[in-house]
Amino acid sequence: MAWEDPWIPAGDTRRPRTLRGKAIFTKVADLINPITGGWDEQLVQDHFDPAGAQAILSISICDSMDDNLAWHFDPKEVFSVKSAYKLGVMLRDRMKGREAACSRESTQDSVVKFNWKKIWDLRAPNKLKMFVWRLAHNSLVSRMKIMRMGVDLDTACPLCHRLNEDGGHIFLKCKMAKACWNSLGLGATRERLLPCSLAHNMLEELWKRDTNVQLKALVLTWEWWSVRNKANSGEAVASYLDVCHRVERHMMDFIHLKLPAIPPKPPDQHKWVKPPDNQ
Ligand SMILES: [Zn+2]
Repeated sequence: MAWEDPWIPAGDTRRPRTLRGKAIFTKVADLINPITGGWDEQLVQDHFDPAGAQAILSISICDSMDDNLAWHFDPKEVFSVKSAYKLGVMLRDRMKGREAACSRESTQDSVVKFNWKKIWDLRAPNKLKMFVWRLAHNSLVSRMKIMRMGVDLDTACPLCHRLNEDGGHIFLKCKMAKACWNSLGLGATRERLLPCSLAHNMLEELWKRDTNVQLKALVLTWEWWSVRNKANSGEAVASYLDVCHRVERHMMDFIHLKLPAIPPKPPDQHKWVKPPDNQ
């Protein structure tokens, strides 16, 4: 198809960049003059941007030639690991750049305003606070996050196997997680958190709720991360009712918890560590 397939030997998408005027054709073959057997130059120039038109017209059409496979990303049109690596790096950088451009402003803004003290004031053991701190820093690694780092893997949720696993799916959207929120009386809270695109926003929204609801939601999130990790490593998954019982048990335990006078020091995520001497 002329407008969808990557058939133009220019750029890295190899698809037409600009649609000029109204397209009266859909297939590449429609651009070939049936009488001369060559490109219909006028048609090409009328419908593609100058660079695209030039690239199309430079493709030689010859009936007597057999089709052959060519690797677009190498000048000699022969596949090489080097050119595939370069392409991989370019696509990764582009994706990072796009994501960074979209999220930089809102993330920075959100990080500055975020009330970190709320985490350390939770009536909860340090291991739960550290978990929430990691959640707030987006450092819990979902399958989609690994894929965005350039690793080719199955991105389906290891619990429901239906949808891609990202932060929102794991903790809020997965049908088993949803059953837990509802069973623990946190259905309305979950509804409020669903539109939040970042963990910060989710926690900010949570801070508006009653402290008991805040803690219960975070204990569930914490327990659920452990369920997810077990499923991810192929272990048996607890039923949602078991998870809810564990959450309720933690809540009972935390009521009697004596909080330390000095809150724990958050780890420094960006601290540079000297590599071992043998590297
Ligand atoms: Zn799922």
